Amino acid sequence: MKILIADDSVVSRHLLEATLRKWGYDVTVACDGAEALQVLERPDAPALIILDWMMPGMTGLEVCQRIRQRGSEPYTYILLLTSKSQKEDLIEGMDAGADDYIAKPFDQSELQVRLRAGTRLVGLQADLLAAREALREQATRDSLTRLWNRSSILDALSRELARAWRESSPLGVVMVDLDHFKYINDNHGHPAGDAVLREAARRMQNGVRQYDSVGRYGGEEFLILLPNCGEAESCSQAERLRKQLTHTDIRIDDTSLWITASFGVTAALPGEPWTAEGLIRKADEALYVAKKSGRNRVEILAYHAEPAPAAAPSETAVAT
Ligand code: GH3
Ligand code: MG
Ligand code: MG
Repeated sequence: MKILIADDSVVSRHLLEATLRKWGYDVTVACDGAEALQVLERPDAPALIILDWMMPGMTGLEVCQRIRQRGSEPYTYILLLTSKSQKEDLIEGMDAGADDYIAKPFDQSELQVRLRAGTRLVGLQADLLAAREALREQATRDSLTRLWNRSSILDALSRELARAWRESSPLGVVMVDLDHFKYINDNHGHPAGDAVLREAARRMQNGVRQYDSVGRYGGEEFLILLPNCGEAESCSQAERLRKQLTHTDIRIDDTSLWITASFGVTAALPGEPWTAEGLIRKADEALYVAKKSGRNRVEILAYHAEPAPAAAPSETAVAT
């Protein structure tokens, strides 16, 4: 458990530090409020701070207020150190955002009890954050491949389109469908099919740039978003992914499986009045062309604002 001590008095700081270290805490020290705030900005900042009220420059109360104004997570538990004469002002300290206080010079067993209460609360808070994160992960990720699930990748498409519009930049939209995937299920079993899906997803995720998004759109169909990629660049990215996907066989138990995929590409270009639905439809049409032209290939269709003719629906659209 990490604790930050912020105290301008060298003697008091050292005494507190030595005591806390003896009790097994991982201690960081700051000699004024500004330094304490800096420490709390770090990614691995302590979640509990023992804060001296009276400090030159920024007082402990001001530090408290600053910490609470940030309102950021995880929660910082604040134990205010007060001298006896400030005891009557404690309401002010608690109003400023302190969780608890202890009078100076502190009594060791009292400090120990108060720290225990603080660390218990910090632990509960961390558990809560972890549970919330797990729920968020469950709601946004596909459970088999860990890629974005369908609704998350569609949300990402809306977000990326809004950004592309704001920044007058292009967005590549790629629809991918594994070729003859049913054959793998039929001949090697559903679990082997699942393993292939996981490995294909892993290869695609590893093959894109950090700011690209890959989602599982349907059964063995994936949607990839390529910010800042126009038609030519989206095509070459898709071609690279296609090669990466087929590069080596996938080994499942004693079997070696070679997989390929077809890619349909389109791009939202600056100045064109595209819609998310229209782009998906266009990428799907391009995927249909790739399937018809022999599979294991990339096809591109330029996006036109007018809707695709209703008489030419895509065979490859995943029904979910
Ligand atoms: P094509 O080249 O035309 O795309 O042929 P295909 O066999 O890949 O396409 P088809 O749509 O006929 O079959 C897709 C199969 O993917 C059927 C379905 O059972 C299987 N599938 C969908 N989701 C999963 C899954 O989560 N796990 C497994 N193992 N199979 C899945
Ligand atoms: Mg398929
Ligand atoms: Mg399919």
